[in-house]
Amino acid sequence: MRVVVAGGAGFLGSHLCDRLLLDGEEVVCIDNFLTGRKSNVEHLLDRPGFELLEQDVAERVEVAGTVDAVLEFASPASPLDYARYPIETLKAGAHGTLNTLDLARAKGARFLLASTSEVYGDPLVHPQEESYWGHVNPIGPRSMYDEAKRFAEALTTAYRNRHGLDTAIIRIFNTYGPRMRTDDGRAIPAFVSQALRGEPVTVAGDGMQTRSVCYVDDLVEGIVRMLRSGLPGPVNLGNPHEMTIIDTARLVVELIGSDAPITFVPRPGDDPMVRRPDITLARQQLGWEPVVDVRDGLVRTIEWFASELATEATGRTG
Ligand code: NAD
Ligand code: UDP
Repeated sequence: MRVVVAGGAGFLGSHLCDRLLLDGEEVVCIDNFLTGRKSNVEHLLDRPGFELLEQDVAERVEVAGTVDAVLEFASPASPLDYARYPIETLKAGAHGTLNTLDLARAKGARFLLASTSEVYGDPLVHPQEESYWGHVNPIGPRSMYDEAKRFAEALTTAYRNRHGLDTAIIRIFNTYGPRMRTDDGRAIPAFVSQALRGEPVTVAGDGMQTRSVCYVDDLVEGIVRMLRSGLPGPVNLGNPHEMTIIDTARLVVELIGSDAPITFVPRPGDDPMVRRPDITLARQQLGWEPVVDVRDGLVRTIEWFASELATEATGRTG
């Protein structure tokens, strides 16, 4: 297969590129480096079967030759990033999804949309199953992301129904691992880099809100299964192991062996109170469930962040 990964230089996209190449597929990575980094795919640049195109998918998508699958991952994804780039986020979800759908249609390729648990908003149903329509504030501080993804799902569905395009929608729940940016603002990269630096670990509110975090390798396995399944979805992909944010912060501090204190900061507006995927569909239809324990996943992530921070420190002094 020749697979286009839009957003391929980001956290998830770069791990997907790695995995697809390992499986013997050819990969065309498209990115404009808005929130991702060339360094995430630098190790692939000389690899046969890998190509990197610098394009803004909201403007145009041009890929020569045959394409068998288009994976649409191009969008800011952390609350800090999408608040910083609200218009870019809406354009990525709208124009970016339109352009990548048109690419898939022109090439006769399967299209897979990276949607999100954020389509459920601040959920009134717990855990969240795919049949839940969500509880989203259309003008709130997260609306540029939530509504962009909800629009992207609707557009993908319209292409399937109107044009008979082979489409798939996955709803990804909080995922973590190596290659997240130390400054991307999400809880795990923030807690890990703060604890490694010995700085106060910033827990929002009283920390009693919950998330269910999935290690990146588990998620990539689920994505690849969905890609090859021919199923339309939407299907939830995430780890149902639910934890409060304060417990997550304490676990990170404990695993690092840091004496960094925990400090409480204001909770952002519309921050969902609970989140846990119901993954019954993924289990039944894809035979998939996460296998990496949160402690193991965090240890691997901490090791990566430690070397990243050491490199940053050398850069500053050297
Ligand atoms: P990321 O910011 O690391 O990756 C996104 C990539 O898309 C970056 O490399 C960025 O430069 C690129 N990009 C953004 N706008 C673009 C544009 N207009 N044209 C080309 N490239 C563009 O974020 P991530 O965590 O890897 O998320 C990837 C995708 O998965 C996103 O669509 C996100 O909504 C979705 N997702 C992620 C999570 C998660 O927990 N990581 C959860 C739910 C959904
Ligand atoms: N959070 C926190 N401290 C931080 C960053 C995030 O307590 O430094 C909280 C945030 O308010 C939310 C949870 O951790 O309740 C998960 O936030 P994240 O940005 O990782 O993901 P999302 O809110 O998109 O699920």
